Amino acid sequence: MNAWVLGNPGEVFTTTKPIPKPGNAEVLIKINAVAICATDLEIIHHGFPALIDGELPFNKNFTPGHEFMGTIAELGPNVDEYNIGDRVAVEIHAGCGRCSRCREGMYTSCHNYGKNYGNMNKGHRANGYTTDGAFTEYAVNHINTLVAVPKDLSNEVATLIVTAGTAMYAIDTIDGLIAGQSLAITGAGPIGLLCVAVAKALGANPIFLSDIIDSRLEVGKSLGADYIINANNTNFNNFLLEKNNNLGVDYLIECSGSPQGLDQATQLVNRGGKICLAAFSNKPSSVNVGNIVANNISLYGIRGEGKSAVKRAASLIKNKALDPSPILTHTFNMKDLPKALKYARERIDGAIKVVVKNS
Ligand SMILES: [Zn+2]
Ligand SMILES: [Zn+2]
Repeated sequence: MNAWVLGNPGEVFTTTKPIPKPGNAEVLIKINAVAICATDLEIIHHGFPALIDGELPFNKNFTPGHEFMGTIAELGPNVDEYNIGDRVAVEIHAGCGRCSRCREGMYTSCHNYGKNYGNMNKGHRANGYTTDGAFTEYAVNHINTLVAVPKDLSNEVATLIVTAGTAMYAIDTIDGLIAGQSLAITGAGPIGLLCVAVAKALGANPIFLSDIIDSRLEVGKSLGADYIINANNTNFNNFLLEKNNNLGVDYLIECSGSPQGLDQATQLVNRGGKICLAAFSNKPSSVNVGNIVANNISLYGIRGEGKSAVKRAASLIKNKALDPSPILTHTFNMKDLPKALKYARERIDGAIKVVVKNS
């Protein structure tokens, strides 16, 4: 099969690899569509958080790409949960299944992350991070991390089930019971926007969304944000407090990755409020800790889509409570992957979520 692999930092090229063979409780998936994630761009240019053989993933014949869906092409031994021809979305992290975090359902925090080769083989799997990903034609996957794609959903939109799973996991982690509670989301990238959509489906009210790109804020409005604020033009803190009885919000999900994001969040949640950090930020943040302690504020960091959040997100989509399609802006053929990556990285033509498809 044709496969894109990572060479030096920033360089992807095509090669051929053998079609993998499904083992016990695994299936072979013909990859139909893959959504490009900001973390793919991070991995391709800087390596982290991908780890192959315990090292950065450059020049290791490694295929990136992790938000994908496809059609089951072959069943491994003892698989009766799915049939050939079923369309499935694929959770990224399977974990190792043997450490305490995996046993708790926190497989995105697997203690054996990256230990999946040679003498260190603890069975860890995270597609496109520690094992081969989806910028290719076929992949094998354990059935425990597959989710059926609703019938009327296109392949392109079905890749967003996994993205919506991360938004669902953020909301699960801060409580889950957000109906009638106020929520602010800072940063209108794909995760921030789908946090708006999932929160709306679960009844949060009101929902505030801030960013500095108007076109993204408009998408946020169509997904259910009650208030959109361009932080370049309006003081977000003043606006939010004014609209929410000077009290601050019950929950805040920080999706911008800005170094100021955390301190701002602590000023915007009310006493006893909860903050979830959902964006990778590479710079240290300065934060007023006294404010967190004095006000009983809880902080959470989430990674990926643990505790079967993808399955719950797929259920909302199936029931038409959630439509992730407004964030899909561009589709390219898999053979044009470098162009698709460029669109995603440089946000060309208002790109939010860019998808590549196998023809
Ligand atoms: Zn991703
Ligand atoms: Zn584990």
